[in-house]
Amino acid sequence: MDLLDILTDKGLRRELPSREEALAVLATTDDQLLDVVAAAGRVRRQWFGRRVKLNYLVNLKSGLCPEDCSYCSQRLGSKAEILKYTWLKPDQAAEAAAAGVAGGAKRVCLVASGRGPTDRDIDRVADTIAAIKDVDENVEVCACLGLLSDNQAERLKAAGADAYNHNLNTSEATYGEITTTHTYADRVDTVTKAHGAGLSACSGLIAGMGESDEDLVDVVFALRELDPDSVPVNFLIPFEGTPLAEEWNLTPQRCLRILAMVRFVCPDIEVRIAGGREVHLRSMQPLGLHIANSIFLGDYLTSEGQAGQADLDMIKDAGFEVEGAEQTTLPRHRAHAAAGAGCGGHQEESACGTGGGCGPCGGHGEAPEAVAAEPKSEPKSESESDEARTDLVRVRRRGAGTELAPNA
Ligand code: SF4
Repeated sequence: MDLLDILTDKGLRRELPSREEALAVLATTDDQLLDVVAAAGRVRRQWFGRRVKLNYLVNLKSGLCPEDCSYCSQRLGSKAEILKYTWLKPDQAAEAAAAGVAGGAKRVCLVASGRGPTDRDIDRVADTIAAIKDVDENVEVCACLGLLSDNQAERLKAAGADAYNHNLNTSEATYGEITTTHTYADRVDTVTKAHGAGLSACSGLIAGMGESDEDLVDVVFALRELDPDSVPVNFLIPFEGTPLAEEWNLTPQRCLRILAMVRFVCPDIEVRIAGGREVHLRSMQPLGLHIANSIFLGDYLTSEGQAGQADLDMIKDAGFEVEGAEQTTLPRHRAHAAAGAGCGGHQEESACGTGGGCGPCGGHGEAPEAVAAEPKSEPKSESESDEARTDLVRVRRRGAGTELAPNA
């Protein structure tokens, strides 16, 4: 049996590949690339069908961070020209979240720059979660606030948060080269705290920071050990004004191989294409959908994505469908206690065959706005998939420099 047959077989059985097999995926040639995508696609369809989960970023607090993460436009000493502002008010954040939900997003990610939240910050976020859920109680809310202190995860859970994001970003061996103000162990600790509090854990990586194939495999295996429900895969956006500004070393083909490797290691976990999708995958983005089952709608934390409508068109054109609020993201066997929090991810039917800154790097500021909020219709059946999606509203970007709330 050749490598891809072995990996497909293991993925369909939820069996972890060996490190050598994961490394071999990253070493495949361009001639093999479509075969790699097809193999990872079989695994993706087994556990997630043709559904694409949309996530929407609301940047609660942008820039002015005391940490020194080299990849981040909000880092200490960053010269990147990004929006800088302090906490959005709950109603501003809820308005922004509603725009994303009206555009098809199922999850809203509340991100704040900084080392970690104070207890007062947890109160602010609790008020924001309440404001969002007051508008639509079915929206999944993920908080991404940095390193958590004792009991903060429990407080977020009690406030109605469904998930917590904190990325490992890179391998333990190279972590000290990208950040000196906190450690890899600090990050693991926060993911563990979130998990322990019953929050759905979201933790991923950033590729393209000069790491080796071994580093990539190391961090993905480490993520798998932490057992997150979602793994965002960021591709470095080399911001001018940051130490990694010259790190343009990703190709669309490399990005697809990385996504495939993540899919084989995490066959039944939500794999999300995060920051850098448009910059690095470019016209190959639709192939990424055959591997990943989740993307961000619209813009990132401090950089623009493609227009939200282009995301929706791409999903439709590639033969996929936007996952509805009533659909379960994760397969049934991954059900656990966090399901009751409304994470849409864990408890219901199997998906088998049916189908910053601290979050996505590069992130905030200018984001899509729903032009006309219309109620969503029932999800289309497979036989209807070639019909126009009139149930999705048009989404457009609002750039920096307006007087409106960022990401509104
Ligand atoms: S990644 Fe988070 S902690 Fe690091 S510099 Fe950016 S905002 Fe600060």
